[in-house]
Amino acid sequence: MILLLLVLSFLFMEFIAWSNHKYVMHGFLWSLHKDHHVATIAGKPGFQKNDLFFLIYAVPAIILIISGISFANSYLIAIGAGITLYGITYFLIHDVVIHHRLPLFKNPGNFYISAIIRAHEAHHKPRNVTDFKNYGLLIFPVRFFK
Ligand SMILES: [Zn+2]
Ligand SMILES: [Zn+2]
Repeated sequence: MILLLLVLSFLFMEFIAWSNHKYVMHGFLWSLHKDHHVATIAGKPGFQKNDLFFLIYAVPAIILIISGISFANSYLIAIGAGITLYGITYFLIHDVVIHHRLPLFKNPGNFYISAIIRAHEAHHKPRNVTDFKNYGLLIFPVRFFK
């Protein structure tokens, strides 16, 4: 049950990230997301205004984990941990592997990760109108597997 809750909250975060990216970051908070798009895939060096979104996502996760510990409620901890794991995954794939913001590791040549990279690059360098609509990170149209 705890593990299921953790996995579900992780998956739910992909939906939150997708909808937030589509309707908020490319909507009324474009001013905060814009600098991530300016220098295309290389990205703006150093801190980006876009990084503030990590803080915004961290707040509910921290609140859930602290309340879970305070009230001895493992469900709250599991949900908070799911959000946190998604944040770490997003950072490692999006910021390290795709945008090379930290010189840690590059594309491991994995079939799925290579497809994630192509799908996200399409969002940054759209070859057609549908490419730019690709707002998710881990879930994307199957054509990027080719
Ligand atoms: Zn974007
Ligand atoms: Zn990006």
